[in-house]
Amino acid sequence: GIQLDNISKRYGDNLVLDDVSLHVEPGTVTALIGPSGAGKSTFLRCINLLERPDSGTIRVAQHTIEPGRVINNRDLATLRRTVGMVFQSFNLFPHMSALQNISFPQQRVLGRSKEKADERALQLLDRVGLKEKAHQHPGRCSGGQQQRIAIARALALDPSIMLFDEPTSALDPEVGLEVLAVMRELAAEGMTMIVVTHEMQFARDVSDTLVVMADCKIIEQGSPDAVMSDPQQARTRQFLRAVL
Ligand code: ATP
Ligand code: MG
Repeated sequence: GIQLDNISKRYGDNLVLDDVSLHVEPGTVTALIGPSGAGKSTFLRCINLLERPDSGTIRVAQHTIEPGRVINNRDLATLRRTVGMVFQSFNLFPHMSALQNISFPQQRVLGRSKEKADERALQLLDRVGLKEKAHQHPGRCSGGQQQRIAIARALALDPSIMLFDEPTSALDPEVGLEVLAVMRELAAEGMTMIVVTHEMQFARDVSDTLVVMADCKIIEQGSPDAVMSDPQQARTRQFLRAVL
């Protein structure tokens, strides 16, 4: 699981995360919602240290990161491997085929042989419904297909936690559904997930906990039904009126 305690982050004079704490049980799905600029992406990026918080403690699986501690490259590599991340903009390697995109990181990060890595890549492509795209470059795949390749690439490193930052917001709704279907399957298999999303139906159906961020803080959290049908904070009600 994940335990984040008292995470704060500034960019210059701009406070972006103000003493944010969150607990995520293993095998659960947490949906993170809130207005633009609330700090959702920054918070997610702090979990795998794409951003370093100014203060607070991060516990991910068996790793603990205290503020100010020097993190060596080996610890960082282990953390990044444990926590897979999928972004709004798929960030695939444009000059590699779908198969190579998924195979190459396994060879680099896990030291798998090309043969083993290719085999696993094909398995994962099959799983996201894209076996026939193995030898296509990302530029010849649709947005939804590219995002499914990006998910397969993240899964190829055998993470125990997956973070998703608005994985469908660059996609047409129909295409987004294919991506959400893959995510639903992952959730059903017990992957620990944090998903920043505006897909309220997905949040309601799939998440165990709905977390609302606004103005650099978590302002409310609970079961999705409870938060959506009976929000406690005026700011949550205002946000939900805009998105529901
Ligand atoms: P959105 O829904 O639009 O994606 P968000 O909730 O993900 O918003 P963040 O991207 O975390 O919000 O940004 C929170 C605040 O931090 C914003 O005011 C943003 O301008 C600022 N910010 C984010 N990244 C940086 C950066 N690298 N340098 C300076 N300021 C940043
Ligand atoms: Mg964001």
